[in-house]
Amino acid sequence: MWTSGPSRVAIIGGGITGLAACYYTAKRYPHANVTLFERSNRLGGLIDSRFVQLDNGGTTVCEMGPRTLRANAPHTNLSLEIRELGLECELVFTPNSDPMASKRYIYYPDHLVPIPVANLSKSIVNIPAPDRLTLHRTWALLKLLGTEPVFQGLLSGICRGLFAHRPEEHEEDDSIGGLLTRRFGKSAADNLGSAVIHGLFAGDLYKLSARALMPGLWALDGRLPFRFDADMPIEPWRASENSWLQTIRKGPAGELERRLFLDASLFSFANGVAQLTERLAETIHCMKNVDVVKDVAVTSISRTGNGIHTQHRRENSPTDPVRAQPAANGYPFSHIISTTSLPITMGLLERGQFRAHPNFSTMNHVPVMTVALYYATANLNHPHRGFGYLLPQTLSHDQNPENALGVIFDSDKIVNQDNTPGTRICVMLGGHHWSSLSRLPTEEEGICRAKALLKRHLGIMEEPVRVITRLEREAIPQYQVGHFDVLRKAHELLKEYDGRMRVAGNCYHGIGVHDCLFGARRVVEDLHEEGRTGLEYYS
Ligand SMILES: Cc1cc2nc3c(=O)[nH]c(=O)nc-3n(C[C@H](O)[C@H](O)[C@H](O)COP(=O)(O)OP(=O)(O)OC[C@H]3O[C@@H](n4cnc5c(N)ncnc54)[C@H](O)[C@@H]3O)c2cc1C
Repeated sequence: MWTSGPSRVAIIGGGITGLAACYYTAKRYPHANVTLFERSNRLGGLIDSRFVQLDNGGTTVCEMGPRTLRANAPHTNLSLEIRELGLECELVFTPNSDPMASKRYIYYPDHLVPIPVANLSKSIVNIPAPDRLTLHRTWALLKLLGTEPVFQGLLSGICRGLFAHRPEEHEEDDSIGGLLTRRFGKSAADNLGSAVIHGLFAGDLYKLSARALMPGLWALDGRLPFRFDADMPIEPWRASENSWLQTIRKGPAGELERRLFLDASLFSFANGVAQLTERLAETIHCMKNVDVVKDVAVTSISRTGNGIHTQHRRENSPTDPVRAQPAANGYPFSHIISTTSLPITMGLLERGQFRAHPNFSTMNHVPVMTVALYYATANLNHPHRGFGYLLPQTLSHDQNPENALGVIFDSDKIVNQDNTPGTRICVMLGGHHWSSLSRLPTEEEGICRAKALLKRHLGIMEEPVRVITRLEREAIPQYQVGHFDVLRKAHELLKEYDGRMRVAGNCYHGIGVHDCLFGARRVVEDLHEEGRTGLEYYS
């Protein structure tokens, strides 16, 4: 059994998970040398904020990846880093009290319907939701539920759902669609559930795992019809996460978090979410024990008696502005933390023995095209102010020829990122609608589709003064039914590396930025302990 602690650590991937893992490792183990490999010439991965200079002299920020972070997300643990990285004064917030934070819509032909998600659902399904359910709001809610076709069958579905049992064959897992149908009725699952899932995971609710992605609702599902003889069951992996988070939050991090995010619903930074990855990159660049190697892909990983080796390939090889040169092939590391996707990581392992494993190919990613449009006229989404709207899976091809997932009213959502009046809107296309296409639409086609959709839905005839697009072919990992089995299997295989090979990133602990930071922090915290993989909580 190999026993040395972290002395030379390789991090694969320079997205938020890799950057954070690098930062935490260099800080936690100051005597270790840390090398971060990123295959492209840009750090940040999916986080990509474009600072745009407009012809009228104004500026704006267009987000091509995540655009806001939730202040109250279950895995939020970023407050100390915000201070350490000097980002406190760069924070921009949407307060809870801002009606823009709570107004969301669903497009159901042929208009936008407000979603009446109340605060109680927040604790169950962890979906961002409005705050108060006053008498006036309750009346408005009931009226809406009774008159809008999109909510047809919801109330009777809920009543029936309260008395339904979880079938035995779904004791291990079920699709989100299956669970929602059982508890809220088929029409609510198809019309409402699928729209919310488009907004969160760009996926098909009948394929995604309820146990992995909606743990609160999954636990409740196992308790219905109500039994009063026991506490709500909590999954062991979740209990372990909670107690770890509580330990962090007891200290100064918790105090700072409460102060920073008091009354905040969403937050970002003045120049966009990428300020976080940029500041992390600047910080690790100045750390003496860190080497950042860009334009170099890790192509395989192998073990020997004295450590674990990576093989590399130089990608486009333009000049590398970062001070370090790639370590020679064969350089031995004491530990590797891979933050790339699960299929890529498994493909790197020796002799490709895990490459063809059918379990890992089920974790596919869906593509997403982000089309960010900036219009010179303000409030073009009037009267539908708020967060934005989502499109359900039930729309026919004629009703959603663009294959849109949702539309975000960026200029309403986070203020203080533009210094000129105007409307910023972002259209998200693709997701599972495009997962079986042999040719994905081009960026020009995406722009045409976005403009056509905004014209039809919101009556926007004006030409945007600036449009930016990004097509991400492997945008969002799909945690399909049986996700826990896949991770359990991955854990078993990684254990063969005696703790030298560990994983973190958006394939494991959740797909949000907070989840990625949580995973990075946790894998580093345990690095000196033998035999770990980053996935033991699923074993
Ligand atoms: C359109 C979109 C909108 C989103 N919106 C939100 C949001 O509003 N809020 C939120 O919390 N989350 C959001 N997310 C999710 C979140 O952005 C991602 O889950 C998160 O950024 C993933 O970070 P990561 O570091 O794990 O992976 P990535 O960012 O994918 O980074 C992985 C890195 O590894 C590199 N790499 C891959 N293979 C190799 C190799 N062999 N060798 C070296 N390097 C390699 C890649 O080039 C990449 O830079 C969104 C995602 C998308 C796509």
